[in-house]
Amino acid sequence: MTHSPAAPEDIRARPKQGASNAAFDVIVIGGGIVGLSTAYFLARRGMRVILLEKGRLAWEQSSRNWGFVRQQGRDPAELPMAALSNRIWCGIEKELDADMEWRQGGNLAVAHNEDDLDRYAEGAGAAQAAGIDTRVLTPDQVGALLPAMQGRFAGGLYTPSDGQADPLKATLAFAKGARAAGADLREHCAVNAIHTSAGRASGVATDAGDLRGDAVVCAAGSHSGFLGRMVGLRLPLRSMRATVAATTPLPPLTGLGIWSAGLGLRQARDGSVILGRASAGTAEHDLTLESLRHINLFLPIFLRNRDLFRLRVGMPLVRDVLRHLPGTAAARRPFGHLVDEEPPANPKTVQSSLGLFNQYFPQRGQVGIARAWAGMIDATPDLLPVLGEVQDLPGFFFATGFSGHGFGLGPGAGHTLAELIALGRTQIDIRPMRYERFAQGDMSKARKIL
Ligand SMILES: Cc1cc2nc3c(=O)[nH]c(=O)nc-3n(C[C@H](O)[C@H](O)[C@H](O)COP(=O)(O)OP(=O)(O)OC[C@H]3O[C@@H](n4cnc5c(N)ncnc54)[C@H](O)[C@@H]3O)c2cc1C
Repeated sequence: MTHSPAAPEDIRARPKQGASNAAFDVIVIGGGIVGLSTAYFLARRGMRVILLEKGRLAWEQSSRNWGFVRQQGRDPAELPMAALSNRIWCGIEKELDADMEWRQGGNLAVAHNEDDLDRYAEGAGAAQAAGIDTRVLTPDQVGALLPAMQGRFAGGLYTPSDGQADPLKATLAFAKGARAAGADLREHCAVNAIHTSAGRASGVATDAGDLRGDAVVCAAGSHSGFLGRMVGLRLPLRSMRATVAATTPLPPLTGLGIWSAGLGLRQARDGSVILGRASAGTAEHDLTLESLRHINLFLPIFLRNRDLFRLRVGMPLVRDVLRHLPGTAAARRPFGHLVDEEPPANPKTVQSSLGLFNQYFPQRGQVGIARAWAGMIDATPDLLPVLGEVQDLPGFFFATGFSGHGFGLGPGAGHTLAELIALGRTQIDIRPMRYERFAQGDMSKARKIL
């Protein structure tokens, strides 16, 4: 598969509405894969774009994730974007002239019982209806695909066109592409306030002064709720701390991305195996004032998954309280304390990931952990992103809340948002991702497929 570039007439930016004398057509807040791919696709359409990043580009989730680029197991509402993203991933290294360690090795989720298989069959049906090559496998087919993995399995869910990439390399490649296409990317330039004028978003206040733009895109990951509140928006977001580990390099094991009983793994090009865990107690939530907002919307998903979450009370709460105190330095620069912050990895999660890996692949002998890290996952109550223009604040766009799926979806999200801003329409339906769904009580039910 290759990325099919937009038709020539599609690439043209629409005439600017309410033409202003703003310096930029679009101001993007956030230098993760979503903000950077948005900046890239906007700049490629000839728009004047500036992207502002509070610290270093790709410092947060976008460089800390597992690197799965997965269509399988997605909510039906996300599938068109997952398929679009997949097409972009297949051609983007060539397009950007960059090495992202992209590998289209497929994704396999192993079923351990009939319940797993029922959910997988439902997921396969939805994916096939969206034109994706997902299918259910028998236990023998799982064994043939992955002979090295030990255990008794009930079957699996397999998507040959899924892939994986190196998170840091991929995100920085979008930065390189955005710059080459003419976007202005500024690091260490936090947005501290959002300006409005005549009922529209009209610019931002930054560490380096004010900037005016005809559109403002909030792609600030887990900080988007705080930013939205600056202009009276109520975006329900939770941040979950998730731990990842990389083993010491091993001989070739598999080109698949694998999901089995709460363990996700893939082998990177240097031979190390990236291990991530999503099972009892591995998603840690640091209590902040933000956590207490919209608690009613999150209650259903919390109750259904209460084994997964662990609540922690510590410094994040203290620092969040400080930035809510009017007149303080922390309130004036509410993101200052978050620059260069590194969430701590959980050693117990690292050990349980390694234990499970050794159980599945005992023939590997002594496997060590080379490094471990953590990242903050931004999640919405229905686990769908928030993408599009806010109806009550024209010119303000959200591209956030990717709920653990945004590395794979990032290029498709950026492409879609650039279409929306430049042309006023999109080739895929993004209505289920609109911001207004929370207030309207029109959320889809968060689904567990994998
Ligand atoms: C451990 C872990 C594993 C994951 N695994 C996968 C996976 O395998 N596959 C997958 O598809 N997804 C995965 N994800 C999710 C994925 O990483 C995210 O959904 C995706 O990276 C989100 O990108 P983003 O650009 O929206 O956010 P981020 O990468 O978090 O970027 C947001 C940026 O905004 C900046 N910012 C915030 N506030 C301001 C401000 N006021 N001014 C200026 N800049 C600001 C931040 O500094 C940050 O750089 C995982 C996430 C984690 C943490």
